[in-house]
Amino acid sequence: MTIARACRLFSVTLVLAAAACRPSSGSEAPAGSTREVNLSAVVWLQTAAEFEALALQAFAQATAALDQALVEPSWVAAPEQTSAPEGAPPAVILDVDETVLDNSPYQGWLLRSGERFAPASWGAWVEAAAAEAVPGALAFTKAAAARGVTVFYVSNRDVSGEAATRQNLARLGFPLAEEVDVVLLKGEREDWGSAKGTRRAEVASRYRIVMLVGDNLGDFTDEYKGDVAARAKVIEATAPWWGRRWIMIPNPMYGSWESALGEGEPATTLRSGLKAWRGPE
Ligand SMILES: [Mg+2]
Repeated sequence: MTIARACRLFSVTLVLAAAACRPSSGSEAPAGSTREVNLSAVVWLQTAAEFEALALQAFAQATAALDQALVEPSWVAAPEQTSAPEGAPPAVILDVDETVLDNSPYQGWLLRSGERFAPASWGAWVEAAAAEAVPGALAFTKAAAARGVTVFYVSNRDVSGEAATRQNLARLGFPLAEEVDVVLLKGEREDWGSAKGTRRAEVASRYRIVMLVGDNLGDFTDEYKGDVAARAKVIEATAPWWGRRWIMIPNPMYGSWESALGEGEPATTLRSGLKAWRGPE
């Protein structure tokens, strides 16, 4: 058995062994880095019946709320839209990654290989168009399309990945309207950056946006970049919208919640967010 093969076998069963066996390249993740501490999050999302139940629960709530939205003409859901244009047709906006497509195998590869997230490897994963659907997402989007609601996908995938993203969504059967561009990616227009407000505004100019679905606060509002306290205030201020106009899918693997803890070595910043009991006397 080669050393490389032995290392691969170890890495399947033992995280510490995997750390010891990694090639000593510049991309090596130190033990305790965010990719190591992400093991629980990735495996939970991939194996826990509880995750599947949460996702199904979220999309069931989305479907119920959608029926309510459609009979209330004043119902709008985007911060960029206070009222819809006269006679505007209804639309829903969903994020893509970890909202409709499950990219946890890419996170699994990061853990196995010891690599850190990098645009090149992420781009290769996107091009593979191999993601499966988040539980409940397909049923919800199909239900929306069946009700005459246009389904938009607003994602921070780079525009270079549009063909592969469309291919992945189409392979899984997600509705992709043909009369209008419904896949709006970062960089597709000059003012379409990471913040999604300009893309929501574009949809809002022609449609009544009745619901937003995402896994990141930025999928709902551009006020997502603050620290932990600032983000908590945003949630308090928008409390009545959750479960009605806004539907959140749980993603413990990554998100702007991480950067809210500060810049620096991820394992350190994550630990800074920890609240702990002082322990037994
Ligand atoms: Mg996402």
